[in-house]
Amino acid sequence: MKKILVFALALICLLGITLSLGAAQTATVGITPNKSSTYAGDSVTFTVKVTGVSAAKSIGIIPSYDTSVFELVSGEWLLSGSAMSDFSGGTAAIAYASARGFNENVFKFTLRIKSGAKLGQTAVDAKVNIMNGNETISCNVSAAKVTVACKHSYSAWSNANGSSHTRTCSLCKNVETKNHTFSNACDTSCNDCSYTRVTNHTYSSSWSSDGAQHWHACTGCGDKKDATVHTPGPAATETTDQTCTVCGHVLVSAQGHTHTPSATYTSDETGHWFVCEGCKEPLEKAEHIFSADCDEACDACQYKRTVTHTYGTEWYGDEQSHWHVCSICNSAEASEAHAWDEGTVTKEPTLDFAGERVHKCATCERQKTVELILQSAPTQDPTPAPITQNDGLAWWWLIIVGTAGIALGFAAAFLLFKPKKEAN
Ligand SMILES: [Zn+2]
Ligand SMILES: [Zn+2]
Ligand SMILES: [Zn+2]
Ligand SMILES: [Zn+2]
Ligand SMILES: [Zn+2]
Ligand SMILES: [Zn+2]
Ligand SMILES: [Zn+2]
Ligand SMILES: [Zn+2]
Repeated sequence: MKKILVFALALICLLGITLSLGAAQTATVGITPNKSSTYAGDSVTFTVKVTGVSAAKSIGIIPSYDTSVFELVSGEWLLSGSAMSDFSGGTAAIAYASARGFNENVFKFTLRIKSGAKLGQTAVDAKVNIMNGNETISCNVSAAKVTVACKHSYSAWSNANGSSHTRTCSLCKNVETKNHTFSNACDTSCNDCSYTRVTNHTYSSSWSSDGAQHWHACTGCGDKKDATVHTPGPAATETTDQTCTVCGHVLVSAQGHTHTPSATYTSDETGHWFVCEGCKEPLEKAEHIFSADCDEACDACQYKRTVTHTYGTEWYGDEQSHWHVCSICNSAEASEAHAWDEGTVTKEPTLDFAGERVHKCATCERQKTVELILQSAPTQDPTPAPITQNDGLAWWWLIIVGTAGIALGFAAAFLLFKPKKEAN
């Protein structure tokens, strides 16, 4: 029983293998043109592609077409390694020593469209015979479709009616109809046929102009109406154009203005500037120029600013007063008189020699020495003479010298007079 089952299974398997080996191959054959529309005299090349064949040894192809439309030009196998290939008399054949698969472009052929060929679509087919030894493989061939068109030879356009014109092909008798063509809205005659129409210009209400004239232009064709030379308005100035008083066309542009700067500066705390003598516009405005932090006057415009000097603590002075000096610009502070103290006598005066008293300024510590002279006149108060300052010294010296001079004069006169008396 078991043996019978195994045998049966083996038989089924064998049958299955045999069935699969013998399973019919079905080839699909496509024919593709290199152009779908063509004209008489042109050539079209068709490529034959086989797909779905796993084992075959030979292919035969006979292109099939309407011979009133096409004539055969050439044919060529696209496969290699064959035992034999041939194309003659409209029949192509190729054979291999052993079976091989086909799934590729296998053949191409070229047809030319005969002159005077029937226009319209036509099919290009092929009889294809694929064999694996004695086994014939069935083929589904899809035919190509090519349209043969007319290279029209049309007549001139002729007027058909108010809106269109027509023309006829002398080859295919095709009649083409198109609308009349005009260059613009005002064009009265069709560009292509003899048709004419009546139009009215549509003039703009605003002026058009060029350098010489102004006019009203037709919006349809640009035709000029009312063309007139311009009427010049007031002459151009620095700022205004000269225009046509009718259309506004600019005849002469504004002259432009060249500023004339004032000779001197105008200034305020922010800076200085010139003013155009013509238009009063400020020109060349700039900040003031001060050479130092304490510089009071602008170097350019002499504008005076308020300066706060930075006075040092050191005292400067002369006989009468003392002051501080700015550490930046060296300018002197307003001076004030020395504040002399009562003074200290450093040398007592005698009847023969002057004494000295030293005073010191309480503020700047400057010192001055005052000469002290004792009064020597006996007529005066015998108590110590009041001290005088050296201002009085000169007078006292005058009196002393004067008195001494007078005494010497008397003495000299006496001496001169006495010998004279003896001589007499
Ligand atoms: Zn035609
Ligand atoms: Zn026309
Ligand atoms: Zn017009
Ligand atoms: Zn004008
Ligand atoms: Zn100006
Ligand atoms: Zn300035
Ligand atoms: Zn200063
Ligand atoms: Zn002082």
